[in-house]
Amino acid sequence: MNRRERFEGVLDYFLRHQPHADTELRYETPFQLLVAVILSAQCTDKRVNLTTPELFRHYPDAAALAKASEHDVYRLIRSISYPNSKSRHLVAMARMLMQHYGGQVPADPAELVKLPGVGRKTANVIASAVFQQPTLAVDTHVFRVARRIGLTVGARNPLQAEKQLTRYIPESLRGRAHHWLILHGRYVCKARKPLCSRCPLTAWCAYYERQEKNRSRAERKKAVRRTA
Ligand code: SF4
Repeated sequence: MNRRERFEGVLDYFLRHQPHADTELRYETPFQLLVAVILSAQCTDKRVNLTTPELFRHYPDAAALAKASEHDVYRLIRSISYPNSKSRHLVAMARMLMQHYGGQVPADPAELVKLPGVGRKTANVIASAVFQQPTLAVDTHVFRVARRIGLTVGARNPLQAEKQLTRYIPESLRGRAHHWLILHGRYVCKARKPLCSRCPLTAWCAYYERQEKNRSRAERKKAVRRTA
C-alpha cells in the first residue's frame, strides 16, 4: 500500500465516523483557548479543564491577566505541570497582547509565535481552531500516530512531520485531522502500548502490517520446528 492510499483510508474513515472533531479544552474566547493551550503543554486536557474555570474567573481576558502578578497566577495553576514557567509565560503573553495587539489574539501564526509561551504547535492550533486557517499542529500524539500508521516516513521532528502531513491532507481537513490524530493517540494508539486489537485503522496501518508479518513469520517457524 502506498502512502496516498493510507491517507485516503484513514481520512475517509474519520470523515465517516467522526465528522465533527474538536478540542477537549474548554474555553469561551480566543484568548481563553490560547491560555488553555499554553497550559496543556506536558499536561492533560482534563487537568487543564479543572484549573481554567477559576483562572478565567479571575482573569477572563488579556487586560486582566496583564495586571496580574506571576505569583497570583502560580497559585491558581500550581496543580498543572511546570507552573513556574507557565505563570511567567501567561503574564508576559497577556502584557504583550496589550502592548502590541490591542488585547486581541493575532490570527497570523508568524505573530502568534512571538508571544511568550507560544511555539509553532500552539500557534497552529490557534490559527486553525479560532481563525480557520489551514494549519496543522503536530503535538506528541499526532507525531507518534502519524509515524506508526506510515502517514509520515523518517520525519525526525514535528516540523518535518507537519510538512509531510500537509502535503497529503487537503486544507479543508487539516483542522479536523489534527483532532482526529490527537484523539486516536490519546485513547487508542497509546504511547506505551497501542490498542491495535480495538483499532479501526488496522487496514491502513504500517505498524500493524509489520506486527502481523512478524507474527505469521514466527508461527511458520514454529510449525517448521514442530514437523522437524
Ligand atoms: S493499528 Fe495499532 S499502531 Fe496502528 S493506528 Fe491502530 S492502534 Fe495505532
